[in-house]
Amino acid sequence: MYLQNRNTKSIYSSIDKRILLFSFNDFINKIVKGKCCFICGAEPNSKEFNNEHIIPKWILKSYGNQNSFMILPNHSEIKNNKYLIPCCKDCNSELGIILENPMSSLLQKNYDEVCKELESDKSLYLKIYHWASLIFFKTHLKDAALLKDRDIRKGSGTIGDDFSWQGLFGIHNLLRHHHTGAKISDNAYGTVLLFESLVEQESETFDYLDNLNSQIVMIQVGKIVIFVVLNDCQACISFYETFLNKITGSLNSIQIRELFARLRYINDNLKYRPRFFTQFKFNKHKILARRPKKLELYKGEQEKSSLFKLMRFYIGDIMPDKLPNKEKLLNDLEQGKAQYIFDENFNFFQYKPYRNS
Ligand SMILES: [Zn+2]
Repeated sequence: MYLQNRNTKSIYSSIDKRILLFSFNDFINKIVKGKCCFICGAEPNSKEFNNEHIIPKWILKSYGNQNSFMILPNHSEIKNNKYLIPCCKDCNSELGIILENPMSSLLQKNYDEVCKELESDKSLYLKIYHWASLIFFKTHLKDAALLKDRDIRKGSGTIGDDFSWQGLFGIHNLLRHHHTGAKISDNAYGTVLLFESLVEQESETFDYLDNLNSQIVMIQVGKIVIFVVLNDCQACISFYETFLNKITGSLNSIQIRELFARLRYINDNLKYRPRFFTQFKFNKHKILARRPKKLELYKGEQEKSSLFKLMRFYIGDIMPDKLPNKEKLLNDLEQGKAQYIFDENFNFFQYKPYRNS
């Protein structure tokens, strides 16, 4: 049985009173502004809190060090061990058992082994989606508490003040499904892609890239690179099936950026978007999606974002400044004259790995 709170409009379980569905106002008051546990909604000081690392601890241990930091949207830095959001001890332990432990053992395997596991257990795609959406959500929830300008006297407000929280509200509902017992239907979660990344330097790396409004995430853990489009109901896979099937080798960092730009372009320009809804029926709690009948993209002047401008933006971001012909390469990208994933015959272009000689 389910109960709705008359004041907040959130929906509770009648058995153990856990919050099954936050109303938008309750989400803003408790989770965004109220420092409550971001999973169960427990008030601060109402139980033991030990806070949740935004970047999972096992990643920091394998790929970080004491001084490693994240670069924030306001271009300031924050030490990874201070990069936390409010979470109670119970929910933190639950996340460890349900997500972090299995993901850490999966992503410490080599790429072929990971592919085999995915082949034999398709539910792992949902686990990867769950994990990526959690990191995405935590990253932007933290922005609600970080000042735009670190100088408190300037009263600049927080980075999160500029957000429309509606998109993150939907993600929050999805990522709590392990806690609420909601069943996510197979068509309600987004595109999940895994590739092998090319060895480009001596040590293996961790990398993270996302875009809040486009709801897209790239996470690189060692030699595995994961792309997740959170709200497209797998439309990117449908659009890019042939393209993706032709990626037959490992991707270098520029190719990773190109693919990120391409997926973002598709998701930005979907003419008809999927709709998500939560259903409580016959004692079953489900998160469902209605996919549009037609898959179509905005073109020409209607485009919400331009593919070539996105490619210039993301690839330009990692091109070294000392590259002698950098400006020409960037212009070629913006004019659609350059691409890095495929050669001119539309065959996958395999770059050479780093060799320690
Ligand atoms: Zn909790």
